[in-house]
Amino acid sequence: MEADIIIVGSGAGGVVVAKELAESGKGKDKDVVLLEAGPHAKTEDAAKYYDRIVSEQGVEIARALCVGGTTLVTAGNGPRSLEHELKSIGIDLSTDFSELEGEIGIKPVPEDCYGEGTKKLGDASAELGYKAVPMPKVINFDKCLSCRRKPCGDCVIGCPTDAKWTATSWVEEVTHQGVKVVPDTKVEKVLIENGRAAGVSANGKEFKSNLVVLAAGGIETPKILLSSGFPSDEVGKNLFIDTYITVAGVMKGINFNEEGTMHALISDPSFNGFILSPHFARHSVEILNHKGYEVSEKDILGLMIKIKDEMSGIVHADGTIEKYMTDKDSVALLEGTTIATEILERAGVEPKSICTTSLRGAHPGGTAAIGKVVNSNLETEIEGLFIADASVLPEAPGAPPMLTIMALAKRLGKYVVNHSL
Ligand SMILES: Cc1cc2nc3c(=O)[nH]c(=O)nc-3n(C[C@H](O)[C@H](O)[C@H](O)COP(=O)(O)OP(=O)(O)OC[C@H]3O[C@@H](n4cnc5c(N)ncnc54)[C@H](O)[C@@H]3O)c2cc1C
Repeated sequence: MEADIIIVGSGAGGVVVAKELAESGKGKDKDVVLLEAGPHAKTEDAAKYYDRIVSEQGVEIARALCVGGTTLVTAGNGPRSLEHELKSIGIDLSTDFSELEGEIGIKPVPEDCYGEGTKKLGDASAELGYKAVPMPKVINFDKCLSCRRKPCGDCVIGCPTDAKWTATSWVEEVTHQGVKVVPDTKVEKVLIENGRAAGVSANGKEFKSNLVVLAAGGIETPKILLSSGFPSDEVGKNLFIDTYITVAGVMKGINFNEEGTMHALISDPSFNGFILSPHFARHSVEILNHKGYEVSEKDILGLMIKIKDEMSGIVHADGTIEKYMTDKDSVALLEGTTIATEILERAGVEPKSICTTSLRGAHPGGTAAIGKVVNSNLETEIEGLFIADASVLPEAPGAPPMLTIMALAKRLGKYVVNHSL
């Protein structure tokens, strides 16, 4: 099979490149092919497509493998992250951010969508001098509120009404605009001939193209590059995951599990490398039962601590991952846990019940970073080979990264269109 442009992966980054090309008319004038490892999926069934990897050091990393990728399981958070950091290295995403915010309709959570638990945590934070602000969301709250389940907290297992934006709707759009979407097609290698991209191999077949955009995510993109004999020692290194834990405790009958998740962002200039956000972790029920508390999901209140972790991880070609906590990471997590515990106690959680969940990460990236593997146009040293996913982020955002990945992908889409590539 031959194509003018091949995009690998239909998640946050891949779909935006496809949309930018489709809207410029390239979807019809040129053969744009979007290859996706996973199957088509209904957004309400998103939980089926979770894929959890555990690093050699026991840190769990989550993602989703299906058409639309990890966007199907997000909490719907859409803040701008790393905006200033990227600007300082010459990448100004302000226009791309604004365009995406308009196209998706990103807005802060309306006050009437705050549940009881979120309100209590917001009030307790304010009493302790920390600011809790409504989180910007990629959620259509009119649609969310008209759902019989109201804000239900199920964003991360699949929105039942499609009120939350996912890449799935844009995959459908670009299909109508002429982009050929091929699911169940796992790319193994990029074909490199005389120092330039010549296509990819997938499912034992070759797909020829002089322009390849890898957007398979922060774990899979470096694996593809490593399997392709990509000439750089930096590929797969510098992995961050925005490590997080949830600190939780007992508050009988609060029904926090049925509230929208992460509806507020708690931060303060004194917070060194972490953010806090209201979060229900199912895992905390088991922990509390194990501690002897007879509680169910409706009896727990919790706060997530998400750190801007150091880029200490490595993705190897065989898929094994090394990711450990550095001293700096441990200090940030400890400071965050101390403050989260103070807030929970102030909100009325039973102090002795307070526990923490294990280390997790949901934002793997940095493994083909700008300045190390790609240049500021997201092109690699292999001519015609670009990257548009979380792997290019030059540092951990320590905050939701999806909008930033999408803004970088939009900028790349425009570059490809404007340079008639
Ligand atoms: C539970 C959870 C909640 C989250 N919530 C938020 C949130 O609220 N806000 C936020 O900003 N971020 C959130 N994130 C993170 C966010 O979803 C990711 O950072 C973002 O989707 C990454 O975009 P990407 O394009 O790099 O990868 P993905 O969106 O994962 O897309 C990669 C795509 O490539 C496909 N693929 C993989 N390998 C191959 C291959 N070999 N060949 C072809 N296709 C392949 C995958 O199936 C997938 O479709 C969350 C993540 C998780 C796990």
